[in-house]
Amino acid sequence: MLSMEGTLINKNELEYSRIKDPQSQKDIKIVSAPAVISSVPPWSLAYEIGLEPGDKIIEINGNKLRDIMDFDLQFKHCDYAELLIKRADEEIIFEVEKDADDELGAEFVTPLFNGVQECANKCPFCFIENQPYEETRESLHLRDDDFRLSYLHGSYVTLTNLSFSDRKRIEELRPGPLYVSVHATEPEVRNLMLGRKKSIPIADELKWLDSLDIPVHTQIVLCPEMNDGKHLQRTIEDLYALKDHPVVSVAVVPVGLTKFHRAGLRRFTTDEAFAVVNLVEEWEQQNPQHKNFVFLSDEWFLMTHTPVPGPEYYGEYPQLEDGVGMTRLFLSEIENELARHSELQTIGHSKEHNDTVIARSTATKQSHQTKRKFSWINGTISKPIVDEVAKKINAALPNIELKPICIDSQFWGTTNVSGLLTGNDIYTALKYCPKELLGEALVIPSVMLKTTVRHPEEREARHKDLLESIEENIFLDDMSLDELAEKLGIPCIKAWGAEELIETIHG
Ligand code: SF4
Repeated sequence: MLSMEGTLINKNELEYSRIKDPQSQKDIKIVSAPAVISSVPPWSLAYEIGLEPGDKIIEINGNKLRDIMDFDLQFKHCDYAELLIKRADEEIIFEVEKDADDELGAEFVTPLFNGVQECANKCPFCFIENQPYEETRESLHLRDDDFRLSYLHGSYVTLTNLSFSDRKRIEELRPGPLYVSVHATEPEVRNLMLGRKKSIPIADELKWLDSLDIPVHTQIVLCPEMNDGKHLQRTIEDLYALKDHPVVSVAVVPVGLTKFHRAGLRRFTTDEAFAVVNLVEEWEQQNPQHKNFVFLSDEWFLMTHTPVPGPEYYGEYPQLEDGVGMTRLFLSEIENELARHSELQTIGHSKEHNDTVIARSTATKQSHQTKRKFSWINGTISKPIVDEVAKKINAALPNIELKPICIDSQFWGTTNVSGLLTGNDIYTALKYCPKELLGEALVIPSVMLKTTVRHPEEREARHKDLLESIEENIFLDDMSLDELAEKLGIPCIKAWGAEELIETIHG
């Protein structure tokens, strides 16, 4: 279990209470820990009063802290704050007089000062349980199930590990929206999905959140022969009965299994995937009110080679982070970017028209320009989409040649989605490829990477000479983007979304 200064959730205690009685978790106390400052921007109040990176805030006005929510509550709305700071071995008091709502402006190492609460389930489809730990990046090893991360970062929680104090806190703070993994509303099916003997029925939990006016986005991870078919139908109907009280949306996502999976589950066949798409579409067509409530993730459409729905299907894209609507949004953004580019070109051309001398010289220059070539890496499931996008880009930007390269993951074995491609997958696929075929750089979608600050001691052999922490983009197998570039001998550039993609290749 994560540990900083102070007492934390005790893993043995948690394990023991789970075995004894899941409800007895009310006895477990989540206690305070200092807020460790990671950076102090020069424009901030923190800088003005003399705080430094590495300082630990132990108390504000005599109150201890558990997380950023406590911090905001104690600091934001007061006009006087007394901060008890630990700097090296010294304890110092900083007095701050401020306007209410003035923020400290310092950044913290983590928003959860007392550590992340881990999950109390044993889902048979758990990706985290089924991976080669020595070969994957550290952030993939944590089975977090913490309502605070759900509120702060939109992570899904199951609500099966809420302690008595968690519930009291939710009632006081009313954090929302929350993101909840429902999987199934029938208690026995949900328990099967979560690998539990018992849990509080999810309908009761949702009604409790509604009584607190907390909106909830839900997800169903769908497994063949477990929670699909009539169970999916029932779950959708039960959740629809709670529409807006508190359920705002439902994402249906197919189970993702890799070659490391050991619990005997299987993936959907294409025919089964079609059946799921049909079930959801038929339910939606039953009643116009059903629109924009249940969303199929992009993978269903890609698996069945069905065109992704238009923007109206996704409404305000409430479940984008769960892979719902990313493809449509990307396609729409590409259209917008290319239209914007063509508008700029038209303006440029009419200007040139008024200046024949410049026009002639520009035309001569352009005719001598060689094409700039780039390779764009993706998973094979996205091939039809990325081929279509590259075709449009190449047609709209005549001096650019964007070549999609779609790769299956050898590392995970059975997956072909872009987000799971590892650095080694890309290296293995391209190491014998002549550089001139790859062009001047590889464009890597940011969905494959996580930005992490690595400290010198963590880097070991890598960048041994650097004493300071550096920010690195890390693939799932812990290879950094820079390492991939070094191994392949070609620049690798991360790009997020359509705008960055066009900007990267076209400047
Ligand atoms: S809730 Fe299930 S899938 Fe998520 S971390 Fe826990 S065991 Fe794994």
